[in-house]
Amino acid sequence: MLSHLKKTDPETTSWLEQELARQRQGLELIPSENFASLAVMEALGSVLTNKYSEGYPGKRYYGGNQFIDQVEELARGRAKALFGVEHANVQPYSGSPANQAAYFALLKPGDTVLGMGLAQGGHLTHGYKLNFSGRYYQGVSYGVDPKTHRLDYEAIRKIALQTKPKLIVCGATAYPRLIDFAAFRAIADEVQAYLLADISHIAGLVVGGLHPSPVPYADVIMTTTHKTLRGPRGAMLLIPRVLDRFHDLYHPASKRNLAELIDAAIIPGLQGGPHNHQTAAIAVCLKEAAQPDFKTYAQQIVINAQALAKTLARQNFRLITGGTDNHLLLIDVSPLGLTGQQAEATLDSVNITVNKNLIPYDTRTPLDPSGIRLGTPALTSRGFTAEDMIQVGEVIGQVLTQPGDPAVLATAKQKVKALTAEHPLYPELKN
Ligand SMILES: *Cc1c(COP(=O)(O)O)cnc(C)c1O
Repeated sequence: MLSHLKKTDPETTSWLEQELARQRQGLELIPSENFASLAVMEALGSVLTNKYSEGYPGKRYYGGNQFIDQVEELARGRAKALFGVEHANVQPYSGSPANQAAYFALLKPGDTVLGMGLAQGGHLTHGYKLNFSGRYYQGVSYGVDPKTHRLDYEAIRKIALQTKPKLIVCGATAYPRLIDFAAFRAIADEVQAYLLADISHIAGLVVGGLHPSPVPYADVIMTTTHKTLRGPRGAMLLIPRVLDRFHDLYHPASKRNLAELIDAAIIPGLQGGPHNHQTAAIAVCLKEAAQPDFKTYAQQIVINAQALAKTLARQNFRLITGGTDNHLLLIDVSPLGLTGQQAEATLDSVNITVNKNLIPYDTRTPLDPSGIRLGTPALTSRGFTAEDMIQVGEVIGQVLTQPGDPAVLATAKQKVKALTAEHPLYPELKN
C-alpha cells in the first residue's frame, strides 16, 4: 500500500503504520471522528492535489481546469441533492474556516454574534473570546438550562432580545439532544438576525433522517465532511434559499444574493486555491451518503449511542441530560472521584479513546474538566452492534470504577482486543 512512501521516507511511513495499528486495535469513541472509506482515501491521495484552480467551475484564474470543473460540479450537485438546498460551496478547507467565511459574508467587524458558549457545548468559532469569532465580532453566548442541561429556547430568546445579534449560530459539539431549528428561526426572525446552522457533528444523522433538518429554517448551513458524514477532512457551506430574507436590511447597496456573498467570502475573501483532491473525496463521500445503507448506518449510530448510554446509566454513571438522542454522550466523571483528564488517560491505557470535555456549569478548566465525551460514529462504521456497545459500556464501567486495579485494566485490554478483532478495520489494507 505505502510502497513508494516506504522507499522515500521510512520515518514517516513508520508513524503512519503505527497509527493504522492504533486505529485498528483501539475502541474509537471520540464523537467527532470516523473512518473514511478506502474510496474516499483514494480520491484524497490522488493527482488532483497537483492542480491550482482559484475561482469556481467555468470561472477560474488558471488554465487546464476542464476536469477539475467536472469534479467540483459533481460535488456541488451531490451536496445540493442530498441536503435539498439551492446552493453549495464545497471549497472550505475545514469547518473553522467555513464558519469564518459565513461570518465574513454576513457581518461587519464588530457586529454581534449569538452562539452557544464553549463551556456549554458550543464550538470555538461560535463567538469564543480567544477565537477570531469573539475577537473581531461581539460574541455573546447562550447555554443550557442549569437543571435539565437542555437548550432553553425562551432563555435564548431573552438574550437575543437584549443583545440584538445580527447572526445567531445554532449547533454544538457536545450536546446529546436534538436541536429545535424552528425555535431558533422564530428567535432569529424576531430580532432580524441571520441564522447559521452548524451541523458539523450531526450532518450524517440529518442525511439519514435521524435528526430534523435545518434546511427549512437556516439562512446558511455549515457542515464539516469528516464527522458523522464520514468523508475526508473538509467542510461545505449550504444555502437553502439564495434569496436572503434580510437582504434589503443588511445589504442595501449590494445586488449579491446569499450564494454570491458566500462564494465571494471563500474566494477572494479568505482562501486561495481549493484543495481539489479534497473536493473529489467530498464528491465520493456524498455519493456514499446517498446510498440506502448510509441510512442504516445513521440509524445504527443512534441505536449504539443509546445502548451505550443505558449500559453506563445502569452502572450509575451520571449522564448529562440522562441519555442521548444523537451520536454522543456527555458524562460527569466527578462522582467517581476522577477528573476528565484522568478518565481519558485511564481509558487510553486500555486502548479506549475518548476525549475529556467540559460539562455544563463545570467548575473545572477546559484542559482538566469534569467530564468525558463519548460517541458511536466510528465504531458503528466498523460494524459494532448494540450488543457490542453493551460490552463496551461494561468495560468502560469496570475501568473507571476501578482505575487503580492492574487486574481490571489487564482484563479490559483483553476485552478490547477481542472486540476489535471481531470487527476488523480496513481489512483490505495489508500493513
Ligand atoms: C468540528 C466542528 C467545527 C470545526 O471543524 P474543524 O474542521 O475542526 O475546523 C465547527 N463547528 C462545530 C460545531 C464542530 O463540531
